[in-house]
Amino acid sequence: MIMYKDINQIDDKLNEECALFGASLKRKGAAGVTYNGLLSLQHRGQEGAGIATLSGHTICLYKGSGLVSEVFNETALEKLNGGTLAVGHTRYSTAGAKNAEENIQPFLAEYLTGRLAVAHNGNLTNSGVLRKNLEARGLDFKASSDSEVISSLIAYKTTLTRDVTEGVTQAVQELAGAFSLIILSSDNLLIAVRDKNGYRPLCLGVGEYGICASSESCGVESCGFRTLRDVQPGEIVVIRDGEIIKSFIYGERERDGFCIFEYVYFARPDSVLDGLSVYEARVNMGRILARERPAPADAVCGVPDSGLEAAMGYAESSGLPLVSGFVKNRYIGRSFIYPDQNAREFAVRLKLNPLRANLEGRKIVLVDDSIVRGTTCARIIKSLREAGAKEVHMRVSSPPFIHTCHYGTDIGDERNLIANGSTVEQIRLKIGADSLGYISGEGLRESCAKCKAGGFCTSCFDKQE
Ligand code: SF4
Repeated sequence: MIMYKDINQIDDKLNEECALFGASLKRKGAAGVTYNGLLSLQHRGQEGAGIATLSGHTICLYKGSGLVSEVFNETALEKLNGGTLAVGHTRYSTAGAKNAEENIQPFLAEYLTGRLAVAHNGNLTNSGVLRKNLEARGLDFKASSDSEVISSLIAYKTTLTRDVTEGVTQAVQELAGAFSLIILSSDNLLIAVRDKNGYRPLCLGVGEYGICASSESCGVESCGFRTLRDVQPGEIVVIRDGEIIKSFIYGERERDGFCIFEYVYFARPDSVLDGLSVYEARVNMGRILARERPAPADAVCGVPDSGLEAAMGYAESSGLPLVSGFVKNRYIGRSFIYPDQNAREFAVRLKLNPLRANLEGRKIVLVDDSIVRGTTCARIIKSLREAGAKEVHMRVSSPPFIHTCHYGTDIGDERNLIANGSTVEQIRLKIGADSLGYISGEGLRESCAKCKAGGFCTSCFDKQE
């Protein structure tokens, strides 16, 4: 029997949250710009994608399951592309049923005199209460995601206040947890919001034809815009006809919030988040890891892709040569056929094949960004040994995960985390490494010290609540 699998479902990595992109232009074509923005942000979510655009006073929405390039074809984009205002989203589900079409964003909601479309990145911690309150007022929900709660609450408040900006301001004050939002209204407004603690990134770009908002600066620049600035934690930015018409702070920070794993793993290395280059942060992590956890080895290699920059830093700081340890197959797409029950092992080999010429007879420092369940890590180490590596010294550029995340990262059940309840030595034995060393929490914070967002959320490794 042929076994057919989605490769993303069996990968033992942290899963990204979502990506947002919106554009307000002085000419038509906002949906095309948004499509390009979403292509650049695809790494943040591959389950579904959608674009809502304003044409005249009508909001048109197109969305579906799969990658951005799979969801939209030329005909769909041509239909959407007549508007000057658009908002788009790529989804990875952290709340609500996985793969459910109705949970794909943006969400549409109606207020008394118009409609709005909302794209959300993050996770609310009070969506159950908000949903019940709205249901008690007669509102109906079609999906199970907290993003629909946000769009309904904004529409409800807009109906009460008769003003979209006021409706957004009142609604976001009732939200708890993590949310970066881009909202499009039929009043021709594009509104960007970041929660008070700034858990998830959001930035603004400016170009010849208008303004865009994007989860990461790589999205801004890939569309030919120039990065203007980050949306500040607790800030609402209102854009009309390709100009920022006002911005203000709606609430003060309550705790250190910016997710430090945006730098470790989620964001693209060519992005700059809150003033710090992701690439630079990752190289710093490698340098500090080498200082804190040296290894008796001959060469350093990184696990593609997000371990590569930390491996560079480790090699530079330790003086060991940096070698390519793997060839990554970039053309698998999402699905593959595997020959027997051992799908995970097969998937790892299909994606990452060890490069024997660089490994044979050598003691290798293997650098990766994280170890979640440990299954993939164990298989990669085994494959290095099979390719002739004499020793494998595992080094990790984040501290051990021991706690789940309530702010939009799918870490999964705590009981499945390899570090939960295990010592470093017990983990080393499980993954089959000759030695194992993690960067410290202090070392990780030091790597990201130039970030201007203020303090970091580090709850998943230090149980700070
Ligand atoms: S708990 Fe961890 S993954 Fe979640 S927001 Fe905080 S640092 Fe990020």
